[in-house]
Amino acid sequence: MSHAERLFILQYGAERVSKNLSLAGGPHHLYWEPLLGYLIETTEGWVLLDTGMSRSAHLSTPNRDAYVAGGVGAPNIDAPWHLRPMPEDPSAWNWVLDGNPLAAALSAVGLKPDDIALAAISHMHVDHSGGIPTLSDAGVPIAIQRAELDFVRSGRVGISEGFFDEDWAHPATEWRILDGDTEIAPGVVAVSTPGHTPGHQSFSVSLRETGTWVFGCDATDLAQNFLDNVPCGSCAGNTPEDERNAADSLSKLLELGRRDGHRLIPGHDQVIANAIAHPPGGHR
Ligand SMILES: [Zn+2]
Repeated sequence: MSHAERLFILQYGAERVSKNLSLAGGPHHLYWEPLLGYLIETTEGWVLLDTGMSRSAHLSTPNRDAYVAGGVGAPNIDAPWHLRPMPEDPSAWNWVLDGNPLAAALSAVGLKPDDIALAAISHMHVDHSGGIPTLSDAGVPIAIQRAELDFVRSGRVGISEGFFDEDWAHPATEWRILDGDTEIAPGVVAVSTPGHTPGHQSFSVSLRETGTWVFGCDATDLAQNFLDNVPCGSCAGNTPEDERNAADSLSKLLELGRRDGHRLIPGHDQVIANAIAHPPGGHR
């Protein structure tokens, strides 16, 4: 079995969303969800999984409007914030790191975009795809499931559904197209988990000392998805088949988690993210 060398957890920002997006049948209750990335040192160079939201999307009025519309009528809009990282304005719809959020997150571990050998995107929602243009300009190829790229290119979805064409239609992007489960670098596996979007993928990362980490991304936003076996709350494809796929993808991730030493990490849970914040030098 191949291993990766080190793992760092990055946070690009956070978004204020209803829990009913994260939990099927869940409450319409606003919750701060972190925008996370996973940076892995491998024998073939640095691999970055997910890229957060761009400043352009953060400043986009239609994007903000879509988020605000999703939260209208929810209680606790002004709930106080109790944890770090602390948003400057807890009544805003999101926050991202200063400047270019991707570059800022990488600089915290001493890297620049062109230090990355390969990036992979779990799915093309705006809170995951934001770094694609920056990485493309730096010559970094982007791994994505074929079904995901086909979906955004179909024209069925736009910014009101959370897909930002500035991110996925950048002319310089060199796509690395995947069809199903694929080891994309030594110790780093893309795990096909459709449902939340038609080509959603999760990731497993195997390290020598801490074992295998499974990053569910938006197949499993919260710890509750895993603990109570609750699929994601939103399926962008909007068909019964997508909902069945979401349930099957959760089962697939839970099965991975039942193996010895596999750590299941939800994609948008600030409490878990804080608890696994990387130690100096990264997880090994
Ligand atoms: Zn998503």
